[in-house]
Amino acid sequence: MKALEEFAATFKRDVPKRVKKPRIWKEKDVLDGKIVDAFVVILRTVGCKWAHDSGCLMCGYFKETYDAGKEEILKQVEEAYSHYNGEEIVKIFTSGSFLDSKEIPLELQELILNKFAKAKKIIVESRPEFIENLERIETKARLEVAMGLESANDRVLEYSINKGFTFAEWRKAAEKVKEYGKELKVYILIKPPFLTEKDAIEDAVRSVEKVKDIADTISFNPVAIHSKTLVELLWRKKLYTPPWLWSVVKVIEDAAEIYDGLIKCDVVAGGKARGAHNCGECDAAFIKAIRDFSLSQKIDVFKKLECECREEWLDLLEIEEFLKG
Ligand code: SF4
Ligand SMILES: [Zn+2]
Repeated sequence: MKALEEFAATFKRDVPKRVKKPRIWKEKDVLDGKIVDAFVVILRTVGCKWAHDSGCLMCGYFKETYDAGKEEILKQVEEAYSHYNGEEIVKIFTSGSFLDSKEIPLELQELILNKFAKAKKIIVESRPEFIENLERIETKARLEVAMGLESANDRVLEYSINKGFTFAEWRKAAEKVKEYGKELKVYILIKPPFLTEKDAIEDAVRSVEKVKDIADTISFNPVAIHSKTLVELLWRKKLYTPPWLWSVVKVIEDAAEIYDGLIKCDVVAGGKARGAHNCGECDAAFIKAIRDFSLSQKIDVFKKLECECREEWLDLLEIEEFLKG
């Protein structure tokens, strides 16, 4: 939808681009069923091509970018490497697509992957249109490609997210990832705008159904309100709220019933107004349970979650459906 694409683009104007250092941190993750250390680096590059053209409605990552040339990226890689202590998993992200040669030239992509090739697994992110570059990269590293799908429903992709591709296009690229012998992680969004809470739960679970045969990992992203986005505008006008943590847990539980691979969920700004939250009283317990599940895969961690706000959440699911007519 051209008008929505053009409107989404207006949020990217006048954002100052200052030279920034790479963001680096360490965390726990899961590798072949074991909890291991992971090293994460976010390289500052020119950023996501789609964000430059228009951009997904909930995404404010364009603010993290700047026009770094090859030398500058190389410096960032050296700096990151100086902090690397042999963690088993290495995640090398940009605020866009690692595999886009306009962000990171191909030879540099190869150099970076080989620099960290001692890691047991390297994870990079990419939009579908750059997957074919995998064919040109020579590396012995065990590689997982994380590709944002958000929703397998084309109407949601077009009108709620402005994703810039259809499910069929995404699926073709996902099959290519597997053909190239790489692992595939799929990001699914929980509660894109313009959906009721109940529809959002169903949309996420239906999306799992459509990718469960091909995904090695499914990672749920409950929407968090990024500044300078259309979703923030809707939120300020009280036309959008991030999902309840009850909804997030429901999605994970339903997904675990139908999908055998690794399920993860990162609740950004959890418990805060800008992130997935419940009543305030129970949020910390929910966030801990979701974090524990992401590492242990034990669905029982959700059994002990109780709070009076469950009734309020159930009422909302019903009322919104009633109002929809
Ligand atoms: S969500 Fe991903 S694809 Fe969409 S604009 Fe942001 S970085 Fe680009
Ligand atoms: Zn509560």
